[in-house]
Amino acid sequence: MSLPSSTAEMRALDAAHHLHPFSDMKSLNAEGSRIIVKAEGVWLTDSDGNRILDGMSGLWCVNVGYGRQEIVDAVARQMTELPYYNTFFKTTHKPAIELAAKLAELTPPQFNRAFFTGSGSESNDTVIKLVRRYFQIKEKPEKKIIISRRNAYHGSTVAAGSLGGMAPMHAQSAPIPDILHIAQPYWWGEARQGETPEEFGLRAAQALEAAIDAMGEDRIAAFIAEPIQGAGGVIIPPATYWPEIARICRERDILFISDEVICGFGRTGSWFGCETFHTEPDILVMAKGITSGYMPLGAVMVADRVAEVLLEGGDFNHGYTYSGHPAACAAAIANLDIMLREDLVGHVANDAGPYLKAGWSALADHPLVGEAPMTGLIGALELTPDKTGRTSFADVGKVGTLARDFSFKNGLVMRAVRDRLIIAPPLVISHGEIDELVARARKTLDDTYAELKRWGWVR
Ligand SMILES: *Cc1c(COP(=O)(O)O)cnc(C)c1O
Repeated sequence: MSLPSSTAEMRALDAAHHLHPFSDMKSLNAEGSRIIVKAEGVWLTDSDGNRILDGMSGLWCVNVGYGRQEIVDAVARQMTELPYYNTFFKTTHKPAIELAAKLAELTPPQFNRAFFTGSGSESNDTVIKLVRRYFQIKEKPEKKIIISRRNAYHGSTVAAGSLGGMAPMHAQSAPIPDILHIAQPYWWGEARQGETPEEFGLRAAQALEAAIDAMGEDRIAAFIAEPIQGAGGVIIPPATYWPEIARICRERDILFISDEVICGFGRTGSWFGCETFHTEPDILVMAKGITSGYMPLGAVMVADRVAEVLLEGGDFNHGYTYSGHPAACAAAIANLDIMLREDLVGHVANDAGPYLKAGWSALADHPLVGEAPMTGLIGALELTPDKTGRTSFADVGKVGTLARDFSFKNGLVMRAVRDRLIIAPPLVISHGEIDELVARARKTLDDTYAELKRWGWVR
């Protein structure tokens, strides 16, 4: 059969045959999916011809924006020359060699080696095996517990989902053993009455020390964290959090894993989130922005002190058919070339980031907004029925979804996590587009507020 051209017919086919990730299929099929047909820069076009500003870079990945012919050409050239070969069994190929060397150059100095995967989830599965293997080789096999955080997102495979701290995911698939979840640094949602962000940040970080003491340092392999929790609602930790975590990781014999799947490749105004927050990881987890989403690819960067042990340990019994896929590596190389040539990291740090932050922070004056944090080009709006008291709406998630739907109607993709709206636009966004984004966000807040008044949920 061939694809019908009308939106209604395509929706019906989608509803009949396509199971979507993280979706309530019954209600999605009743409403119908939005069909995106093309994109350019920061703009999406749907099957009805609506132009929508993509405030989420797809799923946090299209850092260089849509329509980059240079990446397309690099992939096409590679597909013509060598569409596939593996990197198992004593073989390699040019794109994998070039990308590994490039990543060694772009990452902090302790990193010189890359293990390739097909996604962020596969990268985190790799990390679990890798840190356990590291301590096996060091003859400390009992050091295998990995400490993570509640409301963290590390992917969706059985192991990566276990590493993450998403209660709704754990409810449907019980976590694997030897993973422990501690508090997240979410001041708005979890601080005590009267506790300042600085006090709360310290307390949240010290939960790591307490967990290490409770379990015994001889059983803990590693701590994993996103510099800013993305899918958890863009949780930007208080300023006291990361220095305290860094201290604890230095003092204890554990590895520190920075999950840079979102924060890597310019998002926070540095190449990697660990540089923005001055932490010193032993392992970097990458995916998403590494190719700006043009091809699926993930990578794990391993610091020298870890890699040198692994190199002495014989076979590492792990890998994927598509580890270092040539066309995906070619996309990554072209993507990184664009980021370097256009100095997109500097653009986020010195131009687009501060400009968006100014407009975004001003939304904090809206009666629905409790806080409006932003670092680099990633930010959130916490919606609240009462600005003065850090209170939540009774039916958590309903107002977020309402606002998210208004946002789409207003031509802006924002995502809702609970009652928190989040954005992470392409790094190439211009001042004019930022003005447009902020105006549409404000209209969305106004529309939501008016509707909540009709419901009697706000005064
Ligand atoms: C998206 C994400 C992942 C998982 O990546 P996939 O490519 O979807 O498997 C892991 N960690 C973080 C921080 C993410 O945002």
